Amino acid sequence: MNKKSVKDVEVQGKRVFVRCDFNVPMKDGVITSDKRIRGALPTIEYLLQHGAKVILCSHMGKPHNIFTPGFGLTKKEKKKVAALPENEQAAATEAFLAKAAGDRDSLTLKPVADRLNEYLGGKVTFASDIIGPDAKAKVAALKEGEAVLLENVRFDAREEKNGEDFARELASMADLFVNDAFGTAHRAHASTEGITHFIPAVCGFLIEKEITFMGGALENPEHPFVAILGGAKVSDKIGVITNLIDKVDTIIIGGGMAYTFIAAQGGKIGHSLCEEDKFDLALSLLKKAKDKGVKFLLPVDNKCAKAYDNDAESCFSAAGEVPDGFMGLDIGPETIKLYTEAIKGAKTVIWNGPMGVSEFSNYAAGTRAVAQAVADSGALSIVGGGDSTAAIEALGFADKISHISTGGGASLEFLEGKVLPGIAALQDK
Ligand code: AMP
Repeated sequence: MNKKSVKDVEVQGKRVFVRCDFNVPMKDGVITSDKRIRGALPTIEYLLQHGAKVILCSHMGKPHNIFTPGFGLTKKEKKKVAALPENEQAAATEAFLAKAAGDRDSLTLKPVADRLNEYLGGKVTFASDIIGPDAKAKVAALKEGEAVLLENVRFDAREEKNGEDFARELASMADLFVNDAFGTAHRAHASTEGITHFIPAVCGFLIEKEITFMGGALENPEHPFVAILGGAKVSDKIGVITNLIDKVDTIIIGGGMAYTFIAAQGGKIGHSLCEEDKFDLALSLLKKAKDKGVKFLLPVDNKCAKAYDNDAESCFSAAGEVPDGFMGLDIGPETIKLYTEAIKGAKTVIWNGPMGVSEFSNYAAGTRAVAQAVADSGALSIVGGGDSTAAIEALGFADKISHISTGGGASLEFLEGKVLPGIAALQDK
């Protein structure tokens, strides 16, 4: 997969529409982490420095689609109103509409524009609409080396519906489209895919890095190639395991999903997480790994708790021997040794998902040990998923990891070998 990036096209004097991921965590109107904003700066700075007129676009949260023409109550809200006595219906309708209108204050991108300006020296204006008069006027007024951030693109329902007219309107503001929002690249929305039908489309540096590292590992990995998969459910990772089993030398399984594999083979798992309807699948994956000569490592011991609680009574058990009344919440010390050893000689490592309930300090040891092993391995390492990334960052290992993927769902779909519409639509080199 070799997609054109901003460096492969002329941007001087062009109006460039950049889809970013500014979906930052907010509390009471204040940004609590601006990591995603900082992540977007290299592409934006490159464009500004090369004389582009930059139009920035992003979504934030899950707003009511208050800008959609004819916006009104949702079906559910209408039902609730209809169930009320007639004399209360008008007030209830107004209350629902007022609540929706509140999103304009709580999910506006205005604070993002302010933060961008702190980093970019006041070069960014903010448009209070998306394709409306304010956006059009501000785009028309852009000079080379300036940017405008449009309002939350999901305020318009046509964004997520990939409405053709809406996508055409977005495209009409620009000469070139740049996708730098990996986190939404697996969705065919108007600002990620629809727009590419009307103007040339290339990637920004964030998506370029995702493609280079993850695409490179999947297409042409250096061996030994080790995949480490954890997290709550087997069902979330089936696609990834199935795709990777054809490419890797070793698969390491941790987290809640391990217990389904252990129970499927007749092990005792107490109250641990388990998906009984996935037993057949678990057994067939184990068989496939065996047939292909892929090492499939499951925990050999666990740290267990009497309740899903950091401070509940705890014990260690061998795998498949979780005592009645207990649940496995982390891998145990023998498993840590086994997994650390398996990661040691790797040349390529992909890790997604914690080894246990890493939010609980008493059950974070497995995840921390794997983070340490991946950081120490010297392998080309790719880490994805909130908990694994958090463990890497908490331990200060981020600079020892080759690539930390920025997209949760998008990373998984990439590892599943799926086509991501927001990337497929970009021009090939
Ligand atoms: P995922 O989003 O699939 O990567 O799963 C992450 C979640 O899995 C985290 O919230 C963990 O607390 C949870 N998890 C990991 N191991 C276990 C376990 N043994 N039992 C219950 N939950 C777990």
